[in-house]
Amino acid sequence: MNCPACGHADMVDKVLDEMLSYGGQSLTLHAMHGEFCSSCGEGIWDEESYRRYTEADMKEAKPGTRLSRHQHNT
Ligand SMILES: [Zn+2]
Repeated sequence: MNCPACGHADMVDKVLDEMLSYGGQSLTLHAMHGEFCSSCGEGIWDEESYRRYTEADMKEAKPGTRLSRHQHNT
């Protein structure tokens, strides 16, 4: 798989904790799995992790606040 951001061909499987920030609040998603670019750091969550990510987004994000992390394309 090539990186969607920079086209680098070396995506690395990783499991990590992802911390999201909303205004003054933060939320940690544990054991998130995805593939990450070793060149620019862009990542793609796997299906289950991405679902948790978007559910946390919908539940926690308030109008007028934005995720500090950039959104991933699917
Ligand atoms: Zn990249």
